[in-house]
Amino acid sequence: MLEELKNTVKEFGQSRIALIGFPLDEHSSYMRGPASAPPLIREAFHCDSTNLWSETGVDFGEGSPIFDAGDLTFRQDDDAFTHIEEAITLLLGHRLIPISLGGDHSITYPIIKAFHEKYDKLQILHFDAHPDLYDELDGNRFSNACPFARIMENDLAQRLVQVGIRGMNGHQRSQAEKFGVEVIEMKHWRDDISLKFDGPLYISFDLDGLDPAFAPGVSHFEPGGLTTRQAIRMIHNIKTPEIIGADIVEFNPQRDPSGITAMVCAKVLKEIAARIVLLKSYSED
Ligand code: MN
Ligand code: MN
Repeated sequence: MLEELKNTVKEFGQSRIALIGFPLDEHSSYMRGPASAPPLIREAFHCDSTNLWSETGVDFGEGSPIFDAGDLTFRQDDDAFTHIEEAITLLLGHRLIPISLGGDHSITYPIIKAFHEKYDKLQILHFDAHPDLYDELDGNRFSNACPFARIMENDLAQRLVQVGIRGMNGHQRSQAEKFGVEVIEMKHWRDDISLKFDGPLYISFDLDGLDPAFAPGVSHFEPGGLTTRQAIRMIHNIKTPEIIGADIVEFNPQRDPSGITAMVCAKVLKEIAARIVLLKSYSED
């Protein structure tokens, strides 16, 4: 609940990155499951099978720059999107850098609404098999297939770059053209692609951007995707003045009996968080 979050933030307001879970999957267009992801990603993050250092040398153990704001819980009759937007606004108001754990991809729309209030020149890097640019799907304009249509038609982002895409169709291609989305389709992938952003960057990471061989715990299997290493290399190498937030969405624990996808989520979380810290300390020097 939002009240609990207000109290927690008061206690930990000094940390730089705030982890928050949004256990919501009612806008999933194919199968439910991602609502149970956030605690499993946390568990994998702290799993003793590995250590808490990023590959780039940031320690998330003692004195970690991450403060865990917990999960926002929703009542049956709640307007979940309003609560998500308010929660992110609250964290941003405390000068925290929110990393959200989904949940299905529908949550990115209310999250970006909140970011837009603070950053009017927001740029987004979006990892996904799918462009998520449907005007509506099955009569739902807030489906997990639609968030980037809502974001772009409301001018909430100045630039949207999509990577990992291999689920393009005619309707979404015309949407991408209409909104000026830069789509790097998997069929055109090259390992030396290097992306440069000149404004505050938000990263939205849909797990199905990775190949299901590496991250099988997703609702939509779409073969032919990124390797975990290609995604991590991109996170390490993006050129940007700052990363101001991120989300990790669409992990479906029901399809992850071995727990490997939870570990992939934890790894992506660690490498994005480390990049945030390193860019910040560089700009503060
Ligand atoms: Mn998506
Ligand atoms: Mn997807």
